Amino acid sequence: MTKIAVVGATGRMGKVLITAVSANEKATLTAASVRPGGEGAGSVDAGAIAGVGDLGVLLVDDLAAVINQCDVVIDFTTPQATLEHLEICAHANKKIVVGTTGFSPEQLKQVQTFGESNAVVFAPNFSIGVNAAFHLLGVAAEILGGDVEIDITEAHHKHKIDAPSGTALRMGEIIQNSLSLNGHDDQLNYNSIRAGDIVGEHTVMFVGAGERIEITHRAMSRMNFATGAVRAALWLEDKSVGMFDMQDVLGLK
Ligand code: NAD
Repeated sequence: MTKIAVVGATGRMGKVLITAVSANEKATLTAASVRPGGEGAGSVDAGAIAGVGDLGVLLVDDLAAVINQCDVVIDFTTPQATLEHLEICAHANKKIVVGTTGFSPEQLKQVQTFGESNAVVFAPNFSIGVNAAFHLLGVAAEILGGDVEIDITEAHHKHKIDAPSGTALRMGEIIQNSLSLNGHDDQLNYNSIRAGDIVGEHTVMFVGAGERIEITHRAMSRMNFATGAVRAALWLEDKSVGMFDMQDVLGLK
């Protein structure tokens, strides 16, 4: 049984992560944290926040106080909070799954440094469907590159801070790598939509003379990210060092 701590427990993803951990028979929720001074710390049960009934895990506002109760931390918060959590995990020698997006290049280096002495799965998108789409995009760019315009459009709810999304940027990276391996340099454009409560949509268009191919992924709920993150946490069990992504977890590399 893998003991899991969910940080950012009252966030949109935090609540779904608690639900996903409690539904997985190989995982158990042993700790849940909110931001320092956050509501419910010391008095509210994490299961009640997620709507799955009491789990006997009171929210805390300091991960360091409960870090020894878990094997793996799952973190979907903010870049600054994630860096603080990495430090706590490094001191306690704990593994971490990071879904937070919007890191600056310097902040990303700190995540990489963590992976030199501990184990981390870091992915801009934990959905299994999106990771299948990543694979398909590499193949499409290999076949179509050389004479197409490539347009990446993503749409998310109006509260999402970073744009383009981490997933759109990863799609672009995969396409660029595939193009340059094949000696092509087709133009890539990014478009972002922030509106309403859209969970997450990504469409890549390869537009050529008189035709276009579109590859689209639509997330209908946040549960697909959460089940992927729990799968990553369980996968980390026999890893002690390294920075991995969802392609590693799914064996797609
Ligand atoms: P949110 O704002 O609803 O939740 C973030 C939570 O983190 C908040 O409750 C906030 O109080 C908490 N927090 C901030 N600082 C903290 C600290 N020091 N300790 C503990 N908790 C702290 O945001 P969200 O929609 O849940 O998204 C969170 C992050 O996850 C974003 O970066 C988003 O882009 C990313 N995300 C990634 C994926 C993926 O598959 N990788 C999927 C969805 C969202």
